Amino acid sequence: GPLLAIESSCDDTACALLAPDGAVLAESVLTQTGHAALGGVVPEIAARAHLAALPGLIEATLAQAGVTLENVSAFAASTGPGLIGGLIVGSTLAKGLALARGKPFIAVNHIEAHALTPRLPRRTADNAPSGSAPSGSLAFPYLVLLVSGGHCQCVAVEGIGRYRRLGGTIDDAAGEAFDKVAKLLGLGWPGGPALERLAMEGDPRAYALPRPLMGRPGCDFSFSGLKTAVARLVAPYGNAALPRRAAADIAASFQLCVADLMADRARNALALLPDATALVVAGGVAANATLRARLEAVAAEHALPFVAPPLRLCTDNAVMVGWAALETLRARAEAGLGPPDDIAVAPRPRWPLDDVRPPGEARTG
Ligand code: ATP
Ligand code: FE
Repeated sequence: GPLLAIESSCDDTACALLAPDGAVLAESVLTQTGHAALGGVVPEIAARAHLAALPGLIEATLAQAGVTLENVSAFAASTGPGLIGGLIVGSTLAKGLALARGKPFIAVNHIEAHALTPRLPRRTADNAPSGSAPSGSLAFPYLVLLVSGGHCQCVAVEGIGRYRRLGGTIDDAAGEAFDKVAKLLGLGWPGGPALERLAMEGDPRAYALPRPLMGRPGCDFSFSGLKTAVARLVAPYGNAALPRRAAADIAASFQLCVADLMADRARNALALLPDATALVVAGGVAANATLRARLEAVAAEHALPFVAPPLRLCTDNAVMVGWAALETLRARAEAGLGPPDDIAVAPRPRWPLDDVRPPGEARTG
């Protein structure tokens, strides 16, 4: 029977039903809209919204696939990293359903789910990742650049449960940097899409912004110096409106700067992973066309396919959680193991990828 997956680690409430081979039978995502007016995600409000939305969302997802709860053979949920309230709501619901039906519960690491998404089998044109990758499942090892509102890291995906974090941000996440700079430019939240739109009118060479860590060894990121530089450019205007031309030039310069930084880090990461089969970008910031173009060029330099899963699978969703659970079940079966016994796994706001283990090795958390 199908697997039911829940995602509730941030501000997206999501549910999906996947067939054992990874076919998506139904999926629903509700993005909480109330946070925009507050300028960011408020954890307590997010948790309550997940609680209010999930039961109906689960019913709707089952109905969409014409599946009843009795037919579901396994339940999965993100148990970290993320906002603890939402993680508790989603995972407790999934555990409760699993216990009530006597079916296994699989605890999924949210970052692992992002990292395994490019292996989801292609079904429909809509499901196909963009880029030059061949169809079918991506082979290990590959490099994932995860760039979202909460995360910014380079991960070597070497197998199921075998993830090596090559580097990450030492201050803000990439999306956070976009959001903060957008705010300085007087744009709404989330700022990334608005900033990209404004940047189209601007000259990316208008301002020489600092490129922190660029050209230095390693795969770490830093954005705070860049943000400070933008704040300094904006400061002379005080509370008076920034001329649109200047705002557009700053947006374009900032965006190019971030894309250059990412490309530089991706090059260093690929040097550490000489047998990589592909360069993958995931997370909401992967929507950015300038960033995609820069990363695509890096992949081409290395004669590697560049893979960007479709945006609905790049941002938070439950399909990726279900797929990660199916990959875990399959890898365990290949190792002669049954489903994991994850009912006692407690949600963790922080759950580093290095703590996730391959089947058979003790899982932490
Ligand atoms: P998590 O970090 O847990 O994955 P999240 O909700 O913060 O969750 P996403 O939904 O993956 O992350 O991505 C949202 C982020 O992506 C926001 O910071 C947003 O500004 C940024 N973003 C979205 N579109 C663009 C774009 N076109 N250019 C740049 N940044 C963008
Ligand atoms: Fe995410």
